[in-house]
Amino acid sequence: MAEKCDPQSVTRRDFMGGAMAAAAVGGARASGSPATLQATGAPMIELPKLPYGESDLAPHISQETISFHYGKHHKAYVDNTNRMIAGSELAAASLEDIVKATAGKPDKKGLFNNSAQVWNHTFYWKSLSPKGGGQPTGKLLDRVKSDFGDFAKLKEELAKAAVTQFGSGWAWLVVEGGKLRVEQTPNAETPLTSPAKKPLLTIDVWEHAYYVDYRNRRPDYVTAVLDKLINWEFAAANLG
Ligand code: MN
Repeated sequence: MAEKCDPQSVTRRDFMGGAMAAAAVGGARASGSPATLQATGAPMIELPKLPYGESDLAPHISQETISFHYGKHHKAYVDNTNRMIAGSELAAASLEDIVKATAGKPDKKGLFNNSAQVWNHTFYWKSLSPKGGGQPTGKLLDRVKSDFGDFAKLKEELAKAAVTQFGSGWAWLVVEGGKLRVEQTPNAETPLTSPAKKPLLTIDVWEHAYYVDYRNRRPDYVTAVLDKLINWEFAAANLG
């Protein structure tokens, strides 16, 4: 597992994946290697390390799923973002600024989709923990009780948002207007782009998040996440 998380091996895969994708997208400009992009002097958007080992969420989410979801999907969003910002006015921008600057702009759709997916996945990994599940405590639990009635109701709403999101997307717990709210977003859409909203945690409901382990049984994946993996400490830290 440590081997799979080795930045060296990730970089090698990145190089190959990046070069292949650049060849597909850029034709003759097939030198889209990290070295070439870094030569522009711009800081690169990085693939953050997973906050746990690839197999640490098993049996609820398998090592195979994490390996592909983090090592291929998340990584591809990072690579695509870096390719799209290279040499542009957003080349030196932070990930958050890239997402916010491209949201809702039809001519920036590709960059929005990829950069928002980078941010959403980083947030998702932190929303899970091998020691997750259970229920929130302290101030977050107090807020859950005042805004939902009780924890069971919040859990039910999160599950419903995750299960009923049609097609690809995300379920979120956010703070909006001083109240906790559950919401769902399609595709790469993210509450990060709404100044009035502060995301506390998220559940990825794209098929790639669960198909290896659960096939089409998204409700079973959502139940496992909520019962065994969801990271209430992360949500509490975001609540502040
Ligand atoms: Mn995903």
